[in-house]
Amino acid sequence: MEEVLLLSTIYLRIFVSPNANISNERIVWDIYLARKILAPIQIVRFPNPMNGLGYYELPQNYNYSSIICSLSGDTEIELANFDPGDGFRGDGRLINVYYLGGGADDGACDAVALSEKGNRGKFPILGSIYMSNFNDDFGKYLFTHELVHILFARFVNNNNGGNFIQTINMDDPTAPPGAEDQGHSTNEQNLMFPIVPDSSPFVQAYRQAIQQGTPVPQVPRTLLTSSQREKALNSQFVFK
Ligand SMILES: [Zn+2]
Repeated sequence: MEEVLLLSTIYLRIFVSPNANISNERIVWDIYLARKILAPIQIVRFPNPMNGLGYYELPQNYNYSSIICSLSGDTEIELANFDPGDGFRGDGRLINVYYLGGGADDGACDAVALSEKGNRGKFPILGSIYMSNFNDDFGKYLFTHELVHILFARFVNNNNGGNFIQTINMDDPTAPPGAEDQGHSTNEQNLMFPIVPDSSPFVQAYRQAIQQGTPVPQVPRTLLTSSQREKALNSQFVFK
């Protein structure tokens, strides 16, 4: 067995709508930064970019641009049910990533839902990330921000006098106790601050290093704390 199989791994399924702007190696950037920020967690994407596009094309069923981050429950379910025939529909082991298009102001968002009851088992949560056409150097940490929200999601089964109430908790472990927003960091330099830190200093330094043939810069380690890394590592979506 190869040693690589022993490393912690996240599996993503990538979908792209006909309106989405994925120019300038956007998906490559998103995955590269997620790998660097979450290292040593490995990221594997489906479909395999070595055999074709490296993403599934969504059908032109919607004006995707108008639904980004204002998705109704129905649209999320319909997107989740879109089946490219890879055998992973409704599978809580993978995280679905949708490049939908739409205005840059909408940025990105994430959603979680419970798996169908019969198949809740070890992977009770379905995780999805929706990306707008915010495709510039400032917002390249957005994808990983949404990914970490999904990795913080925990299934909660509350026994309320014999009635089980099943919900999902998405708390950030660094949120101050009693803070209104338990899902985000209060540190502006942290990846999980509600407005993600500006990625352009890193991206520009990276491009310059490539041009000059010098070593590429390190992604700031301050983007996540050790408690955030620990919680992310213990997600149902991370395989060890
Ligand atoms: Zn957020």
